[in-house]
Amino acid sequence: MTTKTILIHPDPRLKKVCDPVADVSDELRKLADDMLETMYDAPGIGLAAPQVGVLSRLIVLDCIKEEGDPPQPMAMFNPEILASSDETNVYEEGCLSIPDQYAEVTRPAEVSVRWLDRNGNEREQDFEGLWATCVQHEIDHLNGKLFIDHLSPMKRQMITRKSQKMKRERARV
Ligand SMILES: [Zn+2]
Repeated sequence: MTTKTILIHPDPRLKKVCDPVADVSDELRKLADDMLETMYDAPGIGLAAPQVGVLSRLIVLDCIKEEGDPPQPMAMFNPEILASSDETNVYEEGCLSIPDQYAEVTRPAEVSVRWLDRNGNEREQDFEGLWATCVQHEIDHLNGKLFIDHLSPMKRQMITRKSQKMKRERARV
């Protein structure tokens, strides 16, 4: 497995609507493995293909946070939200493409998701808690949306400026 370079906001590729996966090929399975490796290495709890510069509808996640719990890596191809609860949850979100910036985001507390697994089989599952927030955050990425797009324009601009500055500094090193 190989770790990939994670794109840093602002980047036009993070604003694109990604294409559906036609079929789950070996190449895409390899990409999912590389994305999981990249996510664990970062470390993070979710990663979407556009964050590594691939504009396909693929996300990976693992929201097991308790130390000692076995990892639960998930790869979802063409994930879609079938239903969302009226009840909401607020989590302080961050993003591997926006290093060191965090903000509270309100989202539906429960979502029902359908996707293709790594064998191309259709799966459906309900998520709640951190898993629900994470899967919504990652699916947003496939539609060119970042967590800061849920914030006020002022807050979004502030975080974008900080991210831009960090990106410039990193490029200089
Ligand atoms: Zn993100």
